Amino acid sequence: WTRLREGLARSSNSIGAGLIAIFTKRKLDSGMLDDLEDVLIRADLGVATAARIAQIVGKGRYDKNVEIEEVKDILATEVERVLGPYAKPLDVDTGEKPFVILVVGVNGSGKTTTIGKLASQFSGEGRKVLLAAGDTFRAAAVMQLRIWGERLSCPVIYREQGADASALAFDAVKAARERGDDVVLIDTAGRLQNRAELMAELDKIIRVVRKVDESAPHAVLLVLDATVGQNALSQVEIFGRVAGVTGLVMTKLDGTARGGILVAITDKFHLPIHYIGVGETAGDLEPFTAREFARAIAG
Ligand code: GDP
Repeated sequence: WTRLREGLARSSNSIGAGLIAIFTKRKLDSGMLDDLEDVLIRADLGVATAARIAQIVGKGRYDKNVEIEEVKDILATEVERVLGPYAKPLDVDTGEKPFVILVVGVNGSGKTTTIGKLASQFSGEGRKVLLAAGDTFRAAAVMQLRIWGERLSCPVIYREQGADASALAFDAVKAARERGDDVVLIDTAGRLQNRAELMAELDKIIRVVRKVDESAPHAVLLVLDATVGQNALSQVEIFGRVAGVTGLVMTKLDGTARGGILVAITDKFHLPIHYIGVGETAGDLEPFTAREFARAIAG
Protein backbone atom coordinates (compact mmCIF):
# COMPACT_ATOMS: atom_id res chain seq x y z
CA TRP A 1 0.00 0.00 0.00
CA THR A 2 2.98 2.29 0.26
CA ARG A 3 3.14 1.94 -3.52
CA LEU A 4 -0.48 3.02 -3.85
CA ARG A 5 -0.01 5.94 -1.49
CA GLU A 6 3.09 7.04 -3.33
CA GLY A 7 1.44 6.32 -6.67
CA LEU A 8 -1.66 8.31 -5.92
CA ALA A 9 0.38 11.15 -4.44
CA ARG A 10 0.03 12.98 -7.74
CA SER A 11 -3.75 12.68 -7.49
CA SER A 12 -3.88 13.69 -3.84
CA ASN A 13 -1.32 16.48 -4.30
CA SER A 14 -3.32 18.08 -7.06
CA ILE A 15 -6.47 17.87 -4.95
CA GLY A 16 -4.55 19.11 -1.90
CA ALA A 17 -3.16 22.11 -3.80
CA GLY A 18 -6.69 22.93 -4.97
CA LEU A 19 -8.00 22.74 -1.41
CA ILE A 20 -5.28 25.04 -0.11
CA ALA A 21 -6.08 27.58 -2.81
CA ILE A 22 -9.75 27.51 -1.85
CA PHE A 23 -9.89 27.17 1.91
CA THR A 24 -7.03 29.22 3.24
CA LYS A 25 -8.13 31.98 5.62
CA ARG A 26 -11.57 32.57 4.22
CA LYS A 27 -15.00 31.93 5.57
CA LEU A 28 -17.00 29.42 3.56
CA ASP A 29 -19.30 30.71 0.83
CA SER A 30 -21.02 29.15 -2.18
CA GLY A 31 -18.26 30.30 -4.56
CA MET A 32 -15.77 28.25 -2.58
CA LEU A 33 -18.03 25.22 -2.78
CA ASP A 34 -18.24 25.65 -6.56
CA ASP A 35 -14.45 25.81 -6.67
CA LEU A 36 -14.24 22.68 -4.53
CA GLU A 37 -16.56 20.89 -6.95
CA ASP A 38 -14.33 21.99 -9.85
CA VAL A 39 -11.19 20.67 -8.15
CA LEU A 40 -12.84 17.29 -7.58
CA ILE A 41 -14.19 17.10 -11.12
CA ARG A 42 -10.74 17.94 -12.46
CA ALA A 43 -9.40 15.08 -10.34
CA ASP A 44 -11.76 12.83 -12.37
CA LEU A 45 -14.00 11.89 -9.44
CA GLY A 46 -17.13 12.52 -11.50
CA VAL A 47 -19.81 15.18 -11.26
CA ALA A 48 -22.12 13.28 -8.90
CA THR A 49 -19.49 12.56 -6.26
CA ALA A 50 -17.98 16.04 -6.56
CA ALA A 51 -21.38 17.67 -6.03
CA ARG A 52 -22.17 15.41 -3.09
CA ILE A 53 -18.89 16.19 -1.37
CA ALA A 54 -19.36 19.94 -1.87
CA GLN A 55 -22.85 19.64 -0.42
CA ILE A 56 -21.61 17.78 2.66
CA VAL A 57 -18.80 20.30 3.20
CA GLY A 58 -21.34 23.13 2.94
CA LYS A 59 -23.72 21.69 5.51
CA GLY A 60 -23.50 23.80 8.70
CA ARG A 61 -20.20 25.39 7.70
CA TYR A 62 -21.29 28.56 5.88
CA ASP A 63 -19.50 31.67 7.15
CA LYS A 64 -17.07 29.52 9.11
CA ASN A 65 -13.43 28.76 8.59
CA VAL A 66 -13.10 25.26 7.18
CA GLU A 67 -10.08 23.13 7.98
CA ILE A 68 -8.55 21.39 4.99
CA GLU A 69 -8.20 18.20 7.03
CA GLU A 70 -11.95 18.26 7.55
CA VAL A 71 -12.54 18.42 3.80
CA LYS A 72 -10.04 15.61 3.22
CA ASP A 73 -11.85 13.46 5.77
CA ILE A 74 -15.17 14.06 4.03
CA LEU A 75 -13.53 13.27 0.68
CA ALA A 76 -12.05 10.01 1.98
CA THR A 77 -15.33 8.98 3.62
CA GLU A 78 -17.36 9.64 0.48
CA VAL A 79 -14.88 7.91 -1.84
CA GLU A 80 -14.87 4.90 0.46
CA ARG A 81 -18.67 4.92 0.57
CA VAL A 82 -18.91 4.86 -3.24
CA LEU A 83 -16.23 2.22 -3.77
CA GLY A 84 -16.72 0.03 -0.71
CA PRO A 85 -19.59 -2.12 -1.99
CA TYR A 86 -17.66 -2.86 -5.19
CA ALA A 87 -14.33 -3.90 -3.72
CA LYS A 88 -14.60 -7.63 -4.35
CA PRO A 89 -11.87 -10.23 -4.60
CA LEU A 90 -11.99 -12.38 -7.71
CA ASP A 91 -13.18 -15.78 -6.53
CA VAL A 92 -11.80 -18.58 -8.70
CA ASP A 93 -12.88 -21.29 -6.24
CA THR A 94 -16.37 -21.68 -7.58
CA GLY A 95 -16.03 -25.35 -8.41
CA GLU A 96 -15.50 -24.63 -12.10
CA LYS A 97 -12.50 -26.52 -13.38
CA PRO A 98 -10.92 -24.90 -15.19
CA PHE A 99 -12.07 -21.45 -14.12
CA VAL A 100 -11.89 -19.52 -17.40
CA ILE A 101 -10.94 -15.84 -17.27
CA LEU A 102 -11.18 -13.72 -20.40
CA VAL A 103 -9.08 -10.57 -20.16
CA VAL A 104 -10.16 -7.62 -22.31
CA GLY A 105 -9.15 -3.98 -22.71
CA VAL A 106 -7.53 -1.59 -25.17
CA ASN A 107 -3.95 -2.10 -26.30
CA GLY A 108 -1.46 -0.82 -23.79
CA SER A 109 -3.87 -0.90 -20.85
CA GLY A 110 -1.84 -3.64 -19.18
CA LYS A 111 -3.71 -6.82 -20.10
CA THR A 112 -0.72 -9.04 -20.73
CA THR A 113 1.12 -7.76 -17.67
CA THR A 114 -1.97 -8.27 -15.52
CA ILE A 115 -2.33 -11.84 -16.82
CA GLY A 116 1.29 -12.47 -15.84
CA LYS A 117 0.68 -11.04 -12.37
CA LEU A 118 -2.51 -13.07 -11.91
CA ALA A 119 -0.79 -16.23 -13.12
CA SER A 120 1.98 -15.59 -10.63
CA GLN A 121 -0.52 -15.16 -7.82
CA PHE A 122 -2.61 -18.20 -8.72
CA SER A 123 0.36 -20.49 -9.19
CA GLY A 124 1.84 -19.16 -5.96
CA GLU A 125 -1.38 -20.34 -4.30
CA GLY A 126 -0.75 -23.80 -5.70
CA ARG A 127 -3.16 -23.68 -8.63
CA LYS A 128 -2.39 -25.07 -12.05
CA VAL A 129 -2.60 -22.22 -14.54
CA LEU A 130 -2.71 -22.22 -18.34
CA LEU A 131 -2.18 -19.08 -20.42
CA ALA A 132 -3.68 -18.45 -23.86
CA ALA A 133 -1.97 -15.84 -26.04
CA GLY A 134 -5.19 -14.64 -27.68
CA ASP A 135 -3.80 -11.29 -28.82
CA THR A 136 -2.75 -12.97 -32.06
CA PHE A 137 -2.40 -9.64 -33.86
CA ARG A 138 0.69 -8.55 -32.04
CA ALA A 139 3.76 -10.76 -32.05
CA ALA A 140 5.12 -8.75 -29.12
CA ALA A 141 2.09 -9.57 -26.98
CA VAL A 142 2.51 -13.29 -27.70
CA MET A 143 6.21 -13.11 -26.88
CA GLN A 144 5.54 -11.18 -23.68
CA LEU A 145 3.07 -13.83 -22.51
CA ARG A 146 5.48 -16.63 -23.36
CA ILE A 147 8.14 -14.93 -21.25
CA TRP A 148 5.73 -14.75 -18.30
CA GLY A 149 4.86 -18.41 -18.87
CA GLU A 150 8.50 -19.45 -18.86
CA ARG A 151 9.24 -17.43 -15.77
CA LEU A 152 6.30 -18.94 -13.89
CA SER A 153 6.55 -22.42 -15.43
CA CYS A 154 3.01 -22.09 -16.79
CA PRO A 155 2.19 -23.59 -20.16
CA VAL A 156 1.27 -21.04 -22.83
CA ILE A 157 -0.95 -21.87 -25.81
CA TYR A 158 0.04 -19.70 -28.75
CA ARG A 159 -0.15 -19.66 -32.51
CA GLU A 160 1.50 -17.78 -35.35
CA GLN A 161 0.70 -14.11 -35.78
CA GLY A 162 -2.71 -13.44 -37.30
CA ALA A 163 -4.10 -16.86 -36.29
CA ASP A 164 -7.74 -17.19 -35.28
CA ALA A 165 -7.98 -16.18 -31.63
CA SER A 166 -11.21 -18.08 -31.02
CA ALA A 167 -9.72 -21.37 -32.24
CA LEU A 168 -6.79 -20.75 -29.92
CA ALA A 169 -9.11 -20.03 -26.99
CA PHE A 170 -11.04 -23.23 -27.75
CA ASP A 171 -7.84 -25.27 -27.77
CA ALA A 172 -6.67 -23.65 -24.55
CA VAL A 173 -9.84 -24.38 -22.59
CA LYS A 174 -9.97 -27.92 -23.97
CA ALA A 175 -6.32 -28.54 -23.14
CA ALA A 176 -6.80 -27.13 -19.63
CA ARG A 177 -9.74 -29.42 -19.06
CA GLU A 178 -7.77 -32.45 -20.22
CA ARG A 179 -4.75 -31.49 -18.15
CA GLY A 180 -6.83 -30.83 -15.04
CA ASP A 181 -5.76 -27.18 -14.81
CA ASP A 182 -7.48 -24.90 -12.31
CA VAL A 183 -7.39 -21.57 -14.12
CA VAL A 184 -7.16 -20.48 -17.77
CA LEU A 185 -6.27 -16.87 -18.51
CA ILE A 186 -7.08 -15.78 -22.06
CA ASP A 187 -5.41 -12.66 -23.46
CA THR A 188 -7.24 -10.79 -26.22
CA ALA A 189 -6.54 -8.10 -28.81
CA GLY A 190 -7.69 -4.61 -27.92
CA ARG A 191 -8.18 -2.85 -31.21
CA LEU A 192 -10.66 -0.21 -30.23
CA GLN A 193 -10.22 1.66 -33.52
CA ASN A 194 -12.23 -1.03 -35.19
CA ARG A 195 -15.17 -1.67 -32.91
CA ALA A 196 -17.08 -3.92 -35.28
CA GLU A 197 -14.12 -6.27 -35.64
CA LEU A 198 -13.37 -6.17 -31.95
CA MET A 199 -16.96 -6.99 -31.15
CA ALA A 200 -17.06 -9.83 -33.67
CA GLU A 201 -13.81 -11.27 -32.34
CA LEU A 202 -14.70 -11.16 -28.63
CA ASP A 203 -18.15 -12.47 -29.38
CA LYS A 204 -16.68 -15.37 -31.31
CA ILE A 205 -14.16 -16.19 -28.57
CA ILE A 206 -16.97 -16.34 -26.02
CA ARG A 207 -19.19 -18.49 -28.24
CA VAL A 208 -16.41 -20.91 -29.05
CA VAL A 209 -15.23 -21.21 -25.44
CA ARG A 210 -18.83 -22.10 -24.52
CA LYS A 211 -18.60 -25.09 -26.83
CA VAL A 212 -16.12 -26.60 -24.38
CA ASP A 213 -17.85 -25.37 -21.24
CA GLU A 214 -21.20 -23.67 -21.54
CA SER A 215 -20.75 -21.73 -18.30
CA ALA A 216 -17.45 -20.19 -19.53
CA PRO A 217 -15.98 -17.63 -19.46
CA HIS A 218 -16.48 -17.51 -15.70
CA ALA A 219 -15.02 -14.03 -15.46
CA VAL A 220 -14.50 -11.30 -18.04
CA LEU A 221 -11.97 -8.86 -16.64
CA LEU A 222 -11.67 -5.41 -18.14
CA VAL A 223 -8.19 -3.96 -17.66
CA LEU A 224 -8.20 -0.16 -17.47
CA ASP A 225 -5.20 2.16 -17.51
CA ALA A 226 -5.77 4.77 -14.78
CA THR A 227 -3.65 7.34 -16.61
CA VAL A 228 -6.20 7.74 -19.44
CA GLY A 229 -8.66 9.44 -17.08
CA GLN A 230 -12.06 10.15 -18.62
CA ASN A 231 -11.41 7.85 -21.60
CA ALA A 232 -11.78 4.93 -19.23
CA LEU A 233 -15.50 5.65 -18.98
CA SER A 234 -16.11 4.99 -22.67
CA GLN A 235 -13.91 1.89 -22.50
CA VAL A 236 -16.10 0.45 -19.74
CA GLU A 237 -19.18 1.21 -21.77
CA ILE A 238 -17.88 -0.33 -25.00
CA PHE A 239 -16.33 -3.46 -23.50
CA GLY A 240 -19.32 -3.89 -21.22
CA ARG A 241 -21.53 -4.04 -24.27
CA VAL A 242 -19.18 -6.17 -26.36
CA ALA A 243 -17.91 -8.68 -23.85
CA GLY A 244 -20.20 -8.58 -20.80
CA VAL A 245 -17.51 -7.42 -18.39
CA THR A 246 -17.88 -8.97 -14.93
CA GLY A 247 -15.16 -7.03 -13.10
CA LEU A 248 -12.40 -4.46 -13.33
CA VAL A 249 -8.67 -4.28 -12.86
CA MET A 250 -7.19 -0.78 -12.85
CA THR A 251 -3.51 -0.57 -13.72
CA LYS A 252 -0.81 2.09 -13.46
CA LEU A 253 -2.06 3.54 -10.20
CA ASP A 254 1.60 4.05 -9.38
CA GLY A 255 2.13 7.63 -10.40
CA THR A 256 -1.04 9.08 -11.89
CA ALA A 257 -2.97 12.28 -11.20
CA ARG A 258 -6.08 10.60 -12.59
CA GLY A 259 -6.77 7.81 -10.12
CA GLY A 260 -10.06 9.48 -9.16
CA ILE A 261 -11.59 8.09 -12.33
CA LEU A 262 -12.28 4.83 -10.49
CA VAL A 263 -14.89 6.72 -8.44
CA ALA A 264 -16.63 8.11 -11.54
CA ILE A 265 -16.59 4.64 -13.16
CA THR A 266 -18.10 3.00 -10.10
CA ASP A 267 -20.76 5.69 -9.75
CA LYS A 268 -21.83 5.04 -13.31
CA PHE A 269 -21.32 1.33 -13.93
CA HIS A 270 -21.41 -0.40 -10.52
CA LEU A 271 -18.92 -3.08 -11.52
CA PRO A 272 -16.83 -5.06 -9.03
CA ILE A 273 -13.25 -3.86 -8.72
CA HIS A 274 -10.98 -6.85 -8.18
CA TYR A 275 -7.40 -5.66 -8.39
CA ILE A 276 -5.20 -2.65 -8.92
CA GLY A 277 -1.82 -2.56 -10.66
CA VAL A 278 0.90 -0.54 -8.98
CA GLY A 279 3.93 -1.44 -11.08
CA GLU A 280 5.30 -3.72 -13.74
CA THR A 281 6.52 -6.75 -11.80
CA ALA A 282 4.72 -9.91 -10.69
CA GLY A 283 4.14 -8.65 -7.15
CA ASP A 284 2.66 -5.33 -8.24
CA LEU A 285 -0.96 -6.44 -8.22
CA GLU A 286 -3.02 -5.72 -5.12
CA PRO A 287 -6.53 -6.80 -4.20
CA PHE A 288 -8.60 -3.64 -4.27
CA THR A 289 -9.49 -2.12 -0.90
CA ALA A 290 -11.79 0.91 -0.84
CA ARG A 291 -10.48 2.34 2.42
CA GLU A 292 -6.82 2.33 1.40
CA PHE A 293 -7.68 3.77 -1.98
CA ALA A 294 -9.86 6.51 -0.46
CA ARG A 295 -7.16 7.48 2.02
CA ALA A 296 -4.49 7.51 -0.66
CA ILE A 297 -6.53 9.78 -2.87
CA ALA A 298 -7.51 12.19 -0.09
CA GLY A 299 -3.88 12.45 0.99
P1 GDP B 1 -1.61 -4.76 -23.18
O1 GDP B 1 -1.35 -4.19 -24.52
O2 GDP B 1 -2.97 -4.37 -22.66
O3 GDP B 1 -1.37 -6.22 -23.07
O4 GDP B 1 -0.59 -4.02 -22.18
P2 GDP B 1 0.80 -4.51 -21.56
O5 GDP B 1 0.56 -5.56 -20.53
O6 GDP B 1 1.71 -4.85 -22.67
O7 GDP B 1 1.26 -3.21 -20.79
C1 GDP B 1 1.58 -2.01 -21.45
C2 GDP B 1 2.67 -1.30 -20.68
O8 GDP B 1 2.20 -0.90 -19.41
C3 GDP B 1 3.88 -2.17 -20.40
O9 GDP B 1 5.04 -1.40 -20.53
C4 GDP B 1 3.68 -2.61 -18.96
O10 GDP B 1 4.91 -2.90 -18.31
C5 GDP B 1 3.04 -1.39 -18.38
N1 GDP B 1 2.19 -1.67 -17.19
C6 GDP B 1 1.22 -2.60 -17.05
N2 GDP B 1 0.66 -2.52 -15.82
C7 GDP B 1 1.28 -1.54 -15.15
C8 GDP B 1 1.17 -0.95 -13.82
O11 GDP B 1 0.35 -1.34 -12.98
N3 GDP B 1 2.04 0.07 -13.53
C9 GDP B 1 2.95 0.53 -14.43
N4 GDP B 1 3.74 1.54 -14.06
N5 GDP B 1 3.08 0.02 -15.67
C10 GDP B 1 2.27 -1.00 -16.03
